[in-house]
Amino acid sequence: MTPPDSVAGHRYVHVVESRVWVDDRRAHDDWSVHFLGLLDGHAWWGVDVPRGDDPSEGAALDLFSYFGRASEDEWLVAGRAVQLVDWARTHRFCGRCGTATELARNERATKCPACGLVAFPRLAPAMITLVTRGEPGPDQEVLLARGVQFRAPMYSCLAGFVEPGETLEGAVVREVREEVGVEVGNVRYLGSQPWPFPHSLMLGFRAEWVSGDIVCDPNEIMDANWYRKDDLPPIPPGISIARKLIDHWLRNE
Ligand SMILES: [Zn+2]
Repeated sequence: MTPPDSVAGHRYVHVVESRVWVDDRRAHDDWSVHFLGLLDGHAWWGVDVPRGDDPSEGAALDLFSYFGRASEDEWLVAGRAVQLVDWARTHRFCGRCGTATELARNERATKCPACGLVAFPRLAPAMITLVTRGEPGPDQEVLLARGVQFRAPMYSCLAGFVEPGETLEGAVVREVREEVGVEVGNVRYLGSQPWPFPHSLMLGFRAEWVSGDIVCDPNEIMDANWYRKDDLPPIPPGISIARKLIDHWLRNE
């Protein structure tokens, strides 16, 4: 993966552990780089900053904090840098035979020179669902939950990873059932968002309540309730697809 010969300039996303610091120059020539793509005529690169080094001298930001300080496109590029650098850091050796891997020439992959195993960047699909109850209108309610791992006291959509062999729609039905004991149907896809924490792809859905009362799984959910539009609890900030799903509902779409 290489950029074309002529570009307006270069931008380097230095990945310091999992934080990012963007600069027009690469801090060190011998640090490995990954081509991220072209944006606004510039070639963007992810720089793998060795553990213990910090060319930003503490100015590097985690991706949550970086949101809003750059354009959304630049934020997505920074997330791509974190994912690709993390992938390269964790695939230095073959998972089958333990030999040191090499970067493949013509595709984004590592290849084992001993046994030939090819490893591509990992993506973990996760689904997130806004469950509604009732007819569209002022009396329609949504199911929002506070996860046990939430740092802030907010309520959000239900989310979980897709399991091997499962469809996305099946994952929606299973996760809602497991987390709050409710049966849902009419599952509809709404949109997606890369979620580089560290390598998820969030797939957003709407679903409709079919049956059952809320019974929270205490290992996952601290509290969950049905809410009307005029009586919402604290909800997630704009960075998340959860918020986009809630806003989409609030606009009656
Ligand atoms: Zn191997």
